[in-house]
Amino acid sequence: MGTVTDFFGSLVFDDRVMKATLSSDVYQSLKKTIDEGARLDISVTNAVADAMKEWAISHGATHYTHWFQPLTGITAEKHDSFITPSPDGRVIMEFSGKELIKGEPDASSFPSGGLRATFEARGYTAWDPTSYAFIKDKTLCIPTAFCSYGGEALDKKTPLLRSMEALNRQALRILRLFGNDKVKCVRTSVGPEQEYFLVDREMYEKRPDLIFTGRTLFGAKPPKGQEMDDHYFGMIKPRVAAYMADLNEELWKLGILAKTEHNEVAPAQHELAPIYTTTNIATDHNQLTMEIMQKVAARHGLVCLLHEKPFAGVNGSGKHNNWSISTDNGVNLLTPGETPYENAQFLIFLCAVIKAVDDYQDLLRLSVATAGNDHRLGANEAPPAVVSIFLGDELTAVLDAIENDTPYSGAEKSVMRLGVHVLPKFTRDTTDRNRTSPFAFTGNKFEFRMLGSSNSIACANMMLNSAVAESLKQFADELEGKEDFDSAMHELIKKTIKEHKRIIFNGNGYDDAWIEEAVGKRGLLNYRTTPDCMPHLLDKKNIDMLTYHKVFSEAELESRCEIMLENYNKTVAIEANTMIDMTKKQLLPSIEEYTAKIASAAKVKMDVVEGLSCSYEKKIISRLSGLIAQISDSCDELESAVVQLQSYDDVKEASYFIRDEIIAKMARLRLAADEAETLTDAKCWPYPSYADLLFGVR
Ligand code: ADP
Ligand code: MG
Repeated sequence: MGTVTDFFGSLVFDDRVMKATLSSDVYQSLKKTIDEGARLDISVTNAVADAMKEWAISHGATHYTHWFQPLTGITAEKHDSFITPSPDGRVIMEFSGKELIKGEPDASSFPSGGLRATFEARGYTAWDPTSYAFIKDKTLCIPTAFCSYGGEALDKKTPLLRSMEALNRQALRILRLFGNDKVKCVRTSVGPEQEYFLVDREMYEKRPDLIFTGRTLFGAKPPKGQEMDDHYFGMIKPRVAAYMADLNEELWKLGILAKTEHNEVAPAQHELAPIYTTTNIATDHNQLTMEIMQKVAARHGLVCLLHEKPFAGVNGSGKHNNWSISTDNGVNLLTPGETPYENAQFLIFLCAVIKAVDDYQDLLRLSVATAGNDHRLGANEAPPAVVSIFLGDELTAVLDAIENDTPYSGAEKSVMRLGVHVLPKFTRDTTDRNRTSPFAFTGNKFEFRMLGSSNSIACANMMLNSAVAESLKQFADELEGKEDFDSAMHELIKKTIKEHKRIIFNGNGYDDAWIEEAVGKRGLLNYRTTPDCMPHLLDKKNIDMLTYHKVFSEAELESRCEIMLENYNKTVAIEANTMIDMTKKQLLPSIEEYTAKIASAAKVKMDVVEGLSCSYEKKIISRLSGLIAQISDSCDELESAVVQLQSYDDVKEASYFIRDEIIAKMARLRLAADEAETLTDAKCWPYPSYADLLFGVR
């Protein structure tokens, strides 16, 4: 292995490889498709397919696959080999343009929320030339979208691409109003910071809860948790450092710009941040990153946990979606500019985001809703379930001044008119990192922090892009054709600030008083759980907006709502069943065995020394016996609730039953079991403890 610059992107069919392997005509037309979405000619696709195949084979690949992101949340692939029989009984390696652009995986086992039943039984995958093909496990992976034959999206990439297109369309209208004719397209970029836990593989394998659900369903608090704050940015342990080095190398080969890594707040928790790139590619890369993280962990005798809440009482894992909008000539539209006009343009885009987040709080909230993430949002460790925006004091003061026509000190003490005054320079404030805000402006980008560690970032970004496209549309409708553009723009910005400033909050998002104020005084939404928010996907205002911008059809939205709720229901049901199983087969027998052991020890002692009180043994025995009864009763209750759950046909009703009944019963069972763990000899406990898991990797 040479230096990083030698092997970076070595497994990617990227621009450099395209230039080297395609004729200049073919390269130019492919480039036009990638940059401007132009249609591809079949002769071009044949040439590209052939070059891809030759390149892939020369890198050891034998198979190809259409790589896509069905609604299960993970990626899917079906491998076909390049081999085609030739008349002489031997084989040749073939790959045509037709095979490159379209595939027909057996789609019946992917969730469709009734879509395929209603429309067409089969699905197909279609090449997304804007994301580079790559080699993984001797297979050429071609990033694709996954649709039904009627064209309904069955994946996460399709609506994401559509939302990027919608934002592009509306943003260009605004830029034209500012006399900006050169820009050909506007794109969003994302840098997702990914948190994860590493645990020892041998310990992991002793815990059915980790194996089946990705999180611990039992486990008493360790004597030391994260209270010392000594893990964050602390020294990286040798075994973890070796893992990170290996991981980086694998990611770099795939052209993924893994850049920073550090320990996180919780023990055994770490973070990886890539350099940002176009949203579509960032999404593909994040999916790949999560997959490679797990694969590399196995090589190091470790398991990478991507669950949002692997350990109770210890910070869970999230993902920070750093998001910005920029033009094809490299201007970040969320950067305050140098001239009055650039500043006004910046404020229009800023206001568009503020309005979007306020108008579509529900869509942003539900875009990150899963059973796993419900454990974090609102639990004083991640942003609350209430969506709000952090702007920082400086920018908030600017908006105040504009709203109220009051002087702003940064603008020469005069009343600020947009299009006349230059905004003060905002220095990117690194001291004031408000980590409690769900949606924070950080100088030239917004950081959406509600995502769970295992979420696909596609979901959050399709909603964010669509909502901002809608703001920009309304702005463009209002401003186009206005004679006095400057005044119209000034008034529009003022009005937007007035109407939407309730979403701006610069204080501590973990504070209970904020939730009260947000909900009580400001009327913001507080959807605490997945069943609370998900059905709002089908609210009329949301359907209207998402269908207007052609991001979703109504049928697609209905299917998605159903799939997401079904996902929630299945996840919790599996957790409940795992708890029941662990309780009956391992926990109760172990506690019972230990109790009996103490009892026989006491008996022996009393035989030896007459009149011995054995008060310690009696105390333990009676407490454990009490807990055994409590555990067994709670387990029975949970079991009958799970039986009752089967009687619900409607996914929404079932999700309410889970939220209100099943989860509470799981908590009760856990409480008793965790107490028993603190009273039982560690040698008799069937599972590695929290201390073992959290501090076991050195
Ligand atoms: P931190 O949040 O740890 O202070 P940074 O803000 O530098 O670190 O970067 C965090 C993430 O934000 C990185 O993934 C980075 O690539 C990404 N990022 C930086 N600038 C932008 C931008 N203009 N648009 C989108 N993402 C960005
Ligand atoms: Mg950050």
